[in-house]
Amino acid sequence: MFLKGKSAIITGSTSGIGLAYAKALAAEGASVMINGFGDADAIEKERAALEATHGVKALYDAADMTKPDQIAAMVARANAELGSVDIVISNAGIQHVAPVEEFPVEKWDAVIAINLSSTFHLMRAAVPLMKAKKWGRIITTASAHSLVASPNKAAYVAAKHGIAGLTKTVALETATFGITVNCISPGYVWTPLVENQIPDTMKARGMTREQVMNDVLLAAQPTKAFVHPEQVAALALFLCRDEASAITGANYSIDGGWTAA
Ligand code: NAD
Repeated sequence: MFLKGKSAIITGSTSGIGLAYAKALAAEGASVMINGFGDADAIEKERAALEATHGVKALYDAADMTKPDQIAAMVARANAELGSVDIVISNAGIQHVAPVEEFPVEKWDAVIAINLSSTFHLMRAAVPLMKAKKWGRIITTASAHSLVASPNKAAYVAAKHGIAGLTKTVALETATFGITVNCISPGYVWTPLVENQIPDTMKARGMTREQVMNDVLLAAQPTKAFVHPEQVAALALFLCRDEASAITGANYSIDGGWTAA
């Protein structure tokens, strides 16, 4: 329970990796604010389960990561209702797959807004609170695509490279305030985000579903296996520890060897 007394905001935590982050932090005693879209009853069930299972306070905030004012309001609400904002995990993300000449402009804007700009707005609102307390942990969820590209993912690759640069910059600005800012870059994790990209990848590459699974997704990772959300969350937990206070501005790959290859 090394996070007892700490409060965390995790964006995009109604499913996938974000939900795993929320469960891992709550299991160590942190109060959590979850966020994201989805079925209202299912979200309320997850929120209540976090409280019942771990005995922590869990709030849900519906802030839309394309709206800077809603992001700022969410951070202010967490500070008021949870008592502090000690840990922020920027995780909300979407993906769109299409060749650059066919890439819809509104999809470009949405992918950049939800993945990259939301991370900036979140940091902008949370850093003053952390500086005042001289302690903070900011974790950004980038991707193997913060380091390497794949065809047909112009916006996603640009956004994730941007997150890596933003993370390093804010790490430098906060380094003397007891705040660490690090990036986690997962390879393929089996979540709705990956599942939903399969039809567009089939179209863009002229492949069957099986070929996308084996020759694109699993082929990228020398382990030939998907990463599990809980494995990503375990890395985030480590970065929240006091023992990790010297780690800042880093970009951690958790990708089954993808970027090593
Ligand atoms: P997911 O689709 O399961 O989760 C995405 C979350 O973001 C959901 O909670 C969704 O409601 C939320 N979201 C989407 N648009 C939003 C908006 N406008 N405002 C607020 N919340 C919004 O996907 P995931 O795979 O768990 O992705 C989480 C993060 O991990 C993303 O940033 C993604 O890019 C990154 N990532 C995923 C993989 C992977 O293979 N799944 C690999 C590398 C990085």
